[in-house]
Amino acid sequence: MLQLQSNAFLECEISYEDADIVLFGAPFDSTTSYRPGTRFGSNAIRRESYGIESYSPYQDKDLIDALIMDIGDLDLSIGSVDSVLDEIAEVTANILADDKIPFMLGGEHLVTLGAFREVYKAYPDVHILHFDAHADLRDHYLGVRLSHACVIRRCYDLIGDGRIHQFGIRSGDREEFRWAEHHVNMQRFNLEGFDQKLKQLKGKPVYLTLDLDVLDPSILPGTGTPEPGGVMFDELRIAVTKACQQLDIVGLDVNELSPSYDVSGVSTAVACKLVREMLLALV
Ligand code: MN
Ligand code: MN
Repeated sequence: MLQLQSNAFLECEISYEDADIVLFGAPFDSTTSYRPGTRFGSNAIRRESYGIESYSPYQDKDLIDALIMDIGDLDLSIGSVDSVLDEIAEVTANILADDKIPFMLGGEHLVTLGAFREVYKAYPDVHILHFDAHADLRDHYLGVRLSHACVIRRCYDLIGDGRIHQFGIRSGDREEFRWAEHHVNMQRFNLEGFDQKLKQLKGKPVYLTLDLDVLDPSILPGTGTPEPGGVMFDELRIAVTKACQQLDIVGLDVNELSPSYDVSGVSTAVACKLVREMLLALV
């Protein structure tokens, strides 16, 4: 008998009422500074998730048992950055109001701002845990304040000093790195000090944002602004797993996968596996 094939991420097909975590895609890349294409990231992650198992031998957990609903990609406006951020914010607000965890798949990194705005409203003392090759702390980029190169700076505008914790940063302009010394906690180049950070953030609400280009391009070439010298897969997997297990994660996202540059399909598989591990660690 013919059957409708599932379009959800691996086994994430529980009803909305029963779900503790709600996955959604934000297919947007209009402020991308170099190579566009991340708007196709969330759909690629969903489609290619069937290439990996729903069971994680790392955690001995299976997505089959998890209360997660993937609601698919949002139908975002074309051409207006403000409208797109509002649309992402509205969905996030609804998920939070229903006492569920929003887990967004980008899209470029600016989508974080739409979700984070609402997380901040619900949890005014929230901290940000940020993995990225890039600082994303520019006040404006090519005259634009709403750009993926400015996204963490815009989040800073909301929460202020000392509540942004960055790892893996190895790219930005001089101004960003100088500014960072006084306003955020930045770990350059790698994930050193991560376990200490977990202790420091324990018991506080945390928004986790993972820009996949924190990984070395040898592991994840499929991204718009690849930056050599990044972290290895297992390092990152262990870090995000611990964060999702040990911290009070109130919202999260994975962004900047650009399938057009993923000729081998490996980058998408890497993204799928990280999403699976994060979901299972949250359960
Ligand atoms: Mn970024
Ligand atoms: Mn980046």
